[in-house]
Amino acid sequence: MTDWLSSLTCEHLRELTPYESARRLFAASEGQQRVWLNANESPESSTFEVSSELLNRYPDCQPESVLKAYAAYTGLQQEQIVSTRGADEGIELIIRAFCTPAKSSVLICPPTYGMYAISANTFNVGVQKVPLLHDFSVDVEQVCAQAGKVNVVFLCSPNNPTGTLIPSANVEAILTAYSGKGLVVLDEAYIEFSANTTQTNLLDKYDNLVILRTLSKGFALAGIRCGFVLSSPAIKQVLLKVIAPYPVPDPVAQIAAQALSRKGLETMRTRVDSLSTELIRLSESLNAIKEITLVGKQCGNFVLFRSKHNSELMQYLVNNNVLIRDQSKQLMLDKCLRISIGTPEQNNQLLSLIQTFFATQAVSPAANNEAV
Ligand SMILES: *Cc1c(COP(=O)(O)O)cnc(C)c1O
Repeated sequence: MTDWLSSLTCEHLRELTPYESARRLFAASEGQQRVWLNANESPESSTFEVSSELLNRYPDCQPESVLKAYAAYTGLQQEQIVSTRGADEGIELIIRAFCTPAKSSVLICPPTYGMYAISANTFNVGVQKVPLLHDFSVDVEQVCAQAGKVNVVFLCSPNNPTGTLIPSANVEAILTAYSGKGLVVLDEAYIEFSANTTQTNLLDKYDNLVILRTLSKGFALAGIRCGFVLSSPAIKQVLLKVIAPYPVPDPVAQIAAQALSRKGLETMRTRVDSLSTELIRLSESLNAIKEITLVGKQCGNFVLFRSKHNSELMQYLVNNNVLIRDQSKQLMLDKCLRISIGTPEQNNQLLSLIQTFFATQAVSPAANNEAV
């Protein structure tokens, strides 16, 4: 970068690099022949009707049809729901609304979803870390010990990429410790895959709880960028101060409303059921491979595993046009890879490649004898 541009760039941004999203690592334009199991997307899309009748008009800031449908789906009031450009925008709005740059901090519990820290970094907001415990449960005591020192705590259940859940009792303990002091954000991006574990029922009891949702995962709509922030009406009003004037494009609202209709919900539940069946099948088959150890729990639409041949395996799969996600740089996830569940055919293709890899390529006899 030229000197003048570099010195013009905000000081806290100079050292940052863009988020290495799954899509940035391998562009969608790289063609259909690849099998995409790296972004926790749904392997298949539904079809929708989109009318162009109102495309000449600015859309409503918060389209009634979408809020109403999401309220019915969650059993909440529309006053408790903000519709956003994906859950990622929800994360950003919370940080912009409740953290003061160069002054406030958020707290995260790694290994977890990367965007909490990245969003904080781009707004010059500090990031405190309380790592998960050995079994990937939240270190409740340490998180509570930071009450009063951080403005926002980010929790994720099911957690990406460990697939683990946070029991209600732990969330409530943290909410209580942060009462009157800070927000507790519970990211439920994968909740459709563990639907009975939602903690939306806590919203009535705790005015410092915020829940993040998305249509990207269970609803198979990552391409439309639609998410939700669930909270008290008072928190919603603060978020509306910082949201863009037209965050939900009209075609997005049309598609979201159809996805949340009775028929849309039925389609979603059928899809989630078959992905969950595939998740179990894939996990069991991976678990039967001696060089592979499953890591965490399987409460989302993905499996995390450890293999000491992680980088060779990753490269072998890329060479064979199957893309999964490297998680080995994350805290506690040395040598770990994450697979998003695909169609049965894609999962079979992946499995047979992995089996071939371990049968033929991997592994020198010496390495074979070591414990994995
Ligand atoms: C995918 C994901 C998101 C982002 O969802 P979008 O609505 O697509 O922005 C948020 N949180 C977690 C944990 C995720 O895995």
